[in-house]
Amino acid sequence: MSERNPTSVAVIGGGIAGLATSLNLLDEANRRDHPIQVTTFEKDNEPGGNLRTLRLDEWQLEWGPNGFLDNEPATLRLVKRLDLNDQLQRSSDATRRRFLLVGGRLREIPTSPWAFLKSDLLPTGAKLRMAGELFIPQRKNLGRAAEDATHDETIAQFGNRRLGRAFTRIMLDPMVKGIFGGEAHKLSLAAAFPRMVELEKEYGGLFKAMFALGREKKKRREKKKQGKGRTDAGPTGTLHSFDGGMAALIDAIEAALAIDDRAELITGSDVQRIRPHAVGWFISDKEREHGPFDAVIEATPAHAAVQHLGHLSPDLQLKLAAIPFAPMAVIALGFDRTAITHDLDGFGLLVPGCEKRELLGSLWTSSIFQGRTPTGKVLLRCMAGGSGNPGVMDLDDEGLVTLVLAELRSLLGIKGSPEMARVIRHQRAIAQYLPGHLARLRSLERSISDFPGLFLTGSSYRGISVNSCVKEAEATAGNVLDHLVGKTGRAAPPPTEAV
Ligand SMILES: Cc1cc2nc3c(=O)[nH]c(=O)nc-3n(C[C@H](O)[C@H](O)[C@H](O)COP(=O)(O)OP(=O)(O)OC[C@H]3O[C@@H](n4cnc5c(N)ncnc54)[C@H](O)[C@@H]3O)c2cc1C
Repeated sequence: MSERNPTSVAVIGGGIAGLATSLNLLDEANRRDHPIQVTTFEKDNEPGGNLRTLRLDEWQLEWGPNGFLDNEPATLRLVKRLDLNDQLQRSSDATRRRFLLVGGRLREIPTSPWAFLKSDLLPTGAKLRMAGELFIPQRKNLGRAAEDATHDETIAQFGNRRLGRAFTRIMLDPMVKGIFGGEAHKLSLAAAFPRMVELEKEYGGLFKAMFALGREKKKRREKKKQGKGRTDAGPTGTLHSFDGGMAALIDAIEAALAIDDRAELITGSDVQRIRPHAVGWFISDKEREHGPFDAVIEATPAHAAVQHLGHLSPDLQLKLAAIPFAPMAVIALGFDRTAITHDLDGFGLLVPGCEKRELLGSLWTSSIFQGRTPTGKVLLRCMAGGSGNPGVMDLDDEGLVTLVLAELRSLLGIKGSPEMARVIRHQRAIAQYLPGHLARLRSLERSISDFPGLFLTGSSYRGISVNSCVKEAEATAGNVLDHLVGKTGRAAPPPTEAV
């Protein structure tokens, strides 16, 4: 490593986005032989943000995400970097079976177009309308939502246009609730499901895309059989976690930062304000002011970032405040196996809004991953709330348990009370990418570029999944190093604000 003075970088927020960015900064600085010092500020006493795993006796519960998919390699790269491969757990094959509550009855979601046609999930007219997708012309201005917000459409508009209203109501709506805790008619397709836009743009429609991708997959399989290549995980991917739950990822990053003398993680540091000055950036938490730093990466959710940055410009204030979050309650219920008659052989169930239930869905955790329960027990992870039903968050814990139990009891054949019940409340669970999100993001990037050395990353912007946060962390670290490298020891000073 060279003898130059290290450049100093502050990362605010010790969730997966902030921690992965800190680690990537150190690795990238190594690759570029750039001396660096990285300080990560985390409000809570433990890092991790949404990624926390609770252990109650032998029950293992996830606070936030259940896992991550392997169809995007960024998290798998991080797992390899952290030497965590031997702790990685692939979800069981049973998770291919997923259920929907339709007409008050649980129905398995067919996994092939042929099985879908034969199923009674949708009425015949709706199935014909779906098949008509093949003949629906491509929408004009596809892929231009970032340039002009009027070219955006909601997930529901997309579903109605291509596959019909019944499909949107019964299939898309619960999926959006399950992933975003949001509503299909309120979220931007281009921001929430960019792949859908790409498929329509590239192949002219979803069925055409499915057939073309199927052919490509077959070719790859044949090549693999002949030893000429490897197959990937496919477009939907397989869910993965760790033996010790998602917290294993956080623990490993924390340990990697702890042994690197270029890194410092300050927990219990509730950042209040970020201040640019001629000599660098200063960060005030409730205790004191830290700095100067050559660059600052804001990796907290937009609702926290606006508190630290809003004073820099009314424009930043406005754009960060325009990214709302949906509330969600996770209700974990543990039972003796004999207390549930349903075989729980699957991933779980989702509930379309038209069923008028309080429950958004229920994942059958003990069928998805091993080692989450004491022997002979089963674990259900139920979700309630979301942007469409925030009022449910006013219920106390007992009220939430009673509510989801009342709705699940007859569906799964539950007898008696749970042996373990734990409610986890996320008042601001998941960022909601409203229509125009991508255009707003572009203009937010322009506003941020007025402040050299200031960067934004995390789930509020370019993807809510763990994978998206980790992928973006790689890109952010690269951009920060681009900014720092080439400067003689220190980065260019940011615009000065009165001290
Ligand atoms: C219930 C639930 C289920 C989910 N399920 C999945 C799933 O199965 N798969 C998946 O891929 N994704 C899932 N997600 C989404 C995913 O977990 C999140 O989008 C991701 O964890 C966000 O990471 P982040 O680092 O951007 O934000 P966070 O995890 O929110 O981290 C932000 C950090 O910033 C800190 N902070 C805030 N304010 C300050 C301040 N003033 N000073 C210092 N620090 C501050 C916070 O304490 C926190 O640690 C789920 C999310 C939730 C809530």
